[in-house]
Amino acid sequence: MNAIAGARQSLKDVFGFDGFRGRQEAVVARVLEGRSTLAVMPTGAGKSLTYQLPAVTLPGTCVVVSPLIALMHDQLRSARANGIRAATLTSVDADWRETQHAFRAGELDLLYVAPERASQPAFREFLSAAPLCLFAVDEAHCVSEWGHDFRPDYRLLRGLMDAFPEVPRLALTATADRQTRADVMAQLGIPEDGLVLAGFDRPNIRYSIRHRDNPVRQLTELMASEPGPGIVYAPTRRKVEELAEKLAAATGRPVLPYHAGLDAEVRAANQAGFVASEDMVIVATVAFGMGIDKPDVRFVAHVGVPKSIEGYYQETGRAGRDGDPSQAVMFWGAGDFATARQRLAEVDEARRSAERARLDALAGLVETAGCRRAVLLRHFGEDPPSTCGNCDNCLEQPSVTDVTELARKLLSAVYRTGQSFGMGHLQKVLTGNEDERVRQRGHDRLSVFGIVEGEDARLLQPLSRALQARGDLVATEHGGLALGGSARSILKGESGVEIVIPPKRQRGRRGDAAP
Ligand code: ADP
Ligand code: ZN
Repeated sequence: MNAIAGARQSLKDVFGFDGFRGRQEAVVARVLEGRSTLAVMPTGAGKSLTYQLPAVTLPGTCVVVSPLIALMHDQLRSARANGIRAATLTSVDADWRETQHAFRAGELDLLYVAPERASQPAFREFLSAAPLCLFAVDEAHCVSEWGHDFRPDYRLLRGLMDAFPEVPRLALTATADRQTRADVMAQLGIPEDGLVLAGFDRPNIRYSIRHRDNPVRQLTELMASEPGPGIVYAPTRRKVEELAEKLAAATGRPVLPYHAGLDAEVRAANQAGFVASEDMVIVATVAFGMGIDKPDVRFVAHVGVPKSIEGYYQETGRAGRDGDPSQAVMFWGAGDFATARQRLAEVDEARRSAERARLDALAGLVETAGCRRAVLLRHFGEDPPSTCGNCDNCLEQPSVTDVTELARKLLSAVYRTGQSFGMGHLQKVLTGNEDERVRQRGHDRLSVFGIVEGEDARLLQPLSRALQARGDLVATEHGGLALGGSARSILKGESGVEIVIPPKRQRGRRGDAAP
């Protein structure tokens, strides 16, 4: 029997599973061939199996590095429940002698240790007393400073593993951020072709991204279409409070706030109420959601753009864990990007380009005329089909309009008025509105005065939004707009601009034109 057939047998005999899930088999097959691997799969995808199965199939012990004692003991219990010979070596374990003895006698499949212990020279010596089959590094993003959870002790694991060059390494994480991923592979010595990433699609979630014009009305409509529990993410505590109050009044449904500024008791009560409820909506800052296990959340809405695509995926991922149809709806505004880009100036130089890339990726998601799911999954490194049939753009295709000429006019007006006026003023100048302020400033005498007419005037707002999302227009301290990004290359005629017009607006425009 070859190794993978043996593994398949153990999958059934030891774990009681009928088959592999997602790309578990790809990971297990690599490990059995002795090839080092980084497995990136979302929480719940079944990462533990990808080292536990080789651990029972291969001769020798699998050393598992895990960052938290509580986590290790959970794993230990479930491994032992399956009859796997497993042990932990932590400060709270009383059975050290037995564990050490069992390891030396070759009677352990799995040995769990914390990174602090793993990096000690004495442990290295201890490990050389018996054969090893695998190093499994759980929560491997902890090795990277790019990750959200850097643990310096993880850096020392490389030394330990290098001392056993013939033992393959399997790093596991749910963090699919590109930079973190590359860093983990470099830090742990995993070859570039060693990445197995999959399982990020959540097919029951319908993604929609819309411009925010009246969030209370837009959310009320969403809630009317969706009677089940929902989470609304708002950017600030003040917005959370305000929205919770207005939505409760507008819909008559239970709507509660949640943010770090509320009393611990109130927070706990609101959270518990939400978890138990079948129709409650919680309006929250991103502080809400971590560690909450509520499978029947029917929608997650964002008022404002999330911090990153990773954040968006994680937050929207709280919808529909039961597999039933659910919605993720983002209501974004140009100002969200403008402020975020303005803040880039305050970020230290070292991180600035990464932060900018993060915003660019979000802008790409918001602005795409293509499949939202495809953009998300491609961002994580998957290779999805180009349409999913379950996002706003797949369900109703938006139109794409070339507005290069209009963009040049707008950017030129920004430039000629001194890069310090907001969109309201610029619109007046461009459409030839002889408003008091326009005249006072002498803007009615500029060459750009009144150069935009008719239908084009209605595209100025969506155009400005798109340019702000991309960073070609940036906010100034006083709320004006200035040139940024590739504005100059657009002005010089070196690059063009297209914008996406959502179907509702298309209908509206056709409707307007009808007799
Ligand atoms: P992760 O570590 O990726 O968050 P776990 O390893 O904790 O996920 O697995 C999540 C759940 O999926 C566990 O209950 C596990 O028993 C189950 N599971 C894993 N692999 C399979 C499989 N091939 N078939 C059925 N259930 C599985
Ligand atoms: Zn789609």
